[in-house]
Amino acid sequence: MELIHETGWADPPATTEPSLTGEITADVVVVGGGGGGMSAALRLAGSGTDVVLLEAKTLGSGPTSRNAGYITNSIAADPEMLGLLLRHERLRDLYRYAENAVHFAEDAIERHSIECEYRQEGIVIAAVSKGQLRHARRNAKVMARAGSSAELVDGRAAGLPQGFLGGVREGVGGTLNPGEFALGLREATITSGARVYEGTPALEITDTGGGVLVETPAGKVRARKALLTANAYSNSLSIAPRHLASPVWTSLVETEPVAPERLDEIGWTSRAPMVTLHMILESYRVTPRGTIVFGTRRLQTGRNPLPDRTPAQNVANDLVRGFRERFPGLRDIRPARAWGGWIGMSSTWLPVAGEASDNVLYSLACNGHGFAQAQYVGDLLARHVRGAPMHEDLAAIWHGRRRFWPSFVNQTTLSAAWLADRATDRLAVRA
Ligand SMILES: Cc1cc2nc3c(=O)[nH]c(=O)nc-3n(C[C@H](O)[C@H](O)[C@H](O)COP(=O)(O)OP(=O)(O)OC[C@H]3O[C@@H](n4cnc5c(N)ncnc54)[C@H](O)[C@@H]3O)c2cc1C
Repeated sequence: MELIHETGWADPPATTEPSLTGEITADVVVVGGGGGGMSAALRLAGSGTDVVLLEAKTLGSGPTSRNAGYITNSIAADPEMLGLLLRHERLRDLYRYAENAVHFAEDAIERHSIECEYRQEGIVIAAVSKGQLRHARRNAKVMARAGSSAELVDGRAAGLPQGFLGGVREGVGGTLNPGEFALGLREATITSGARVYEGTPALEITDTGGGVLVETPAGKVRARKALLTANAYSNSLSIAPRHLASPVWTSLVETEPVAPERLDEIGWTSRAPMVTLHMILESYRVTPRGTIVFGTRRLQTGRNPLPDRTPAQNVANDLVRGFRERFPGLRDIRPARAWGGWIGMSSTWLPVAGEASDNVLYSLACNGHGFAQAQYVGDLLARHVRGAPMHEDLAAIWHGRRRFWPSFVNQTTLSAAWLADRATDRLAVRA
């Protein structure tokens, strides 16, 4: 299995945009060109705002092009737990926001004519044990009460592989090739009228009172407002709220192509994309190129400045071990390569947006489920910065100027969650 630095979904763009030299001015400067920053820049440029987008590497080269490709209305935290912790109205607002995020991402594919193999097939949050199935039933009730498009399904009736007993099927969203999507959104952003600088990390952002000053290695941007959409990298900028984002490295493995009849033989007749109900989820999906991509299980924390890296060999091996346990009928299928990316976990475990200062707004819509949500929040923040009244979906995740608690995500808690998942796996086998 080859451990690669870049995304396995698509080749990098053939050419890159220039980096910033000298001093320039703009109305709004967006820092971080993932799906969130590109969507913000697109909205601003489309409404005639003079916008500059600064990207440390190339647009979309972070998690936006590296993820598992699920467009999901899931919120990272467990629905049952959210049902216990949050008021009913708040939960309903969050699920409405997350579902609208799915539609926003789907519209972006249409709007920019992006060829990214999107399949609107929903996603199954699947149980691999009776305990998980009971959990799925409880989650389905909470999600139904919150107005989410989710239904309980039986594993055999839903065409899930043997060993997957059933679960909750999200009625919206589906899967795509995130690498191709990122390339398409990048192209749309570059041609939108936004001034794009690649290879240009913001080093310091200062709120000067009347506006902002962003310093880069060879230049400066003065603007009225700044949007901070740097995800896991946010806390490398001193203006970001303390404890906003805890960086966590997440890994994916892709197999060699699998013959379709092999998938039929193991009962995966629907080819439904799945995530499991473990504390740290496992994801399994079939790609249009006939491979299986699976991921997560073992997470690793990091500190800014975050290194460019590959998955660790032991983490990739653990993913392969998990794949063989879940799919004993595919034990001979070889893993071909593995890659990963840095996600930013918020200490509230929920998507957040707010104000770092009078003129600097931030978003962190990630927690590993932010592919659609980051784009939607980028768009909502852009509308907000232009003076539109606060959208109800932005209000649903608005953190304002409040502080963040230190996160309980650290290597010890992540390793403990992995151990707990393996222990429940063993108990399920014995039951
Ligand atoms: C392996 C993996 C699997 C995942 N699977 C899924 C999934 O299936 N579904 C889902 O919904 N989500 C998934 N996610 C999460 C999802 O990819 C992210 O939530 C989403 O892409 C975040 O988008 P973003 O625009 O906020 O951030 P990013 O894509 O991280 O973009 C941030 C950008 O900011 C740039 N940057 C950072 N610092 C600076 C700076 N100082 N100056 C300028 N630029 C800077 C970075 O280079 C980067 O391009 C996954 C993530 C990973 C890593």
